[in-house]
Amino acid sequence: MNLEKLEEALKDQPKFRLKEARDFLYIKFIENWNEATSFSKDLREKLNKECPLEIKAELLISKSKDSVKTKITLKDGLEIETVLMRHIDGRNTVCVSCQVGCPMNCAFCATGKMGLLRNLDYLEIIEQVLFFARLLVKEKQRVTNVTFMGMGEPFLNYDNVFKAIEILNNKDYFNISIRSISVSTCGVIEGIEKLADSGLQVNLAISLHAPNDKLRGELMPINKKYSLEKVLSTVDKYIGKTKRKVMFEYILIKDVNDSIDCAKELAGLMKKKLYFLNLIVFNPVAGSKFQPSEKKQIEEFKKILKKEKINFVQRYKFGQDIKAACGQFVTESNIVIHR
Ligand code: SF4
Repeated sequence: MNLEKLEEALKDQPKFRLKEARDFLYIKFIENWNEATSFSKDLREKLNKECPLEIKAELLISKSKDSVKTKITLKDGLEIETVLMRHIDGRNTVCVSCQVGCPMNCAFCATGKMGLLRNLDYLEIIEQVLFFARLLVKEKQRVTNVTFMGMGEPFLNYDNVFKAIEILNNKDYFNISIRSISVSTCGVIEGIEKLADSGLQVNLAISLHAPNDKLRGELMPINKKYSLEKVLSTVDKYIGKTKRKVMFEYILIKDVNDSIDCAKELAGLMKKKLYFLNLIVFNPVAGSKFQPSEKKQIEEFKKILKKEKINFVQRYKFGQDIKAACGQFVTESNIVIHR
């Protein structure tokens, strides 16, 4: 729903009408203007015509009901995926996409295989949150957290991502606490620098996935442009400016990055006070040459981290059965074969 179009459609109405309309959209989360019962029939019809609220989407619920994935069809027919993760403590996190596909081509990631089709605009980003907010309001619940960890690299679409964050955080719109919004990057250092200067108190996460340049370069082509040393020194400057903790994500892949040597090297990198490590077991993707690490190996890996007193958690796997887990976002009809 285009917010500028809404203002335009209401320009002949008394001023308070815009606030009323916003309340219908972002507090009551209506799906059709006919639900805006305090508006005249004519106005409801005009808004349905000029500012339609429909979101074209298909829902998939995982067996454990802790995650719901949706495939949203955009105006130009391209599709994106978004996931709602329902935590046992009552938080509801929406993991949004910021691009259709991704140009970064990380070896373990299904989205990377799509290539980049295009950036999403900020409205297409907030529409993903709006979709789940409408679903949750029926259960008297709300979206509490948003993570930019779906399809795409947020710092390659900086302006739209940050405009979307402002709207998500705005009290007149979604009113989601800025500290409950996280942005994950594969290490685009210009984006980290811009974020540090912006003063925005969102959480920063870095997709690390390897403890040295050789292995990281094999898994993540971006490492050839931004070495581990460059990324970590930029993160340190970010911490110096913001005094905020930074999360590092590490996907455990069998016989690739889960050795004891890797754990020791990783522990060496993660010793800083405001670093926090998030271990994620690889989610198998059809056609991938990679496998998840074995339980015994994960335990050995964690033992080293514990011994070195590294701050870490192993992330709970949401929605593996509906391919809603990390690195599994891919809309098959969008796949482009690069030759
Ligand atoms: S892991 Fe992230 S940056 Fe890498 S290809 Fe996938 S979506 Fe892109």
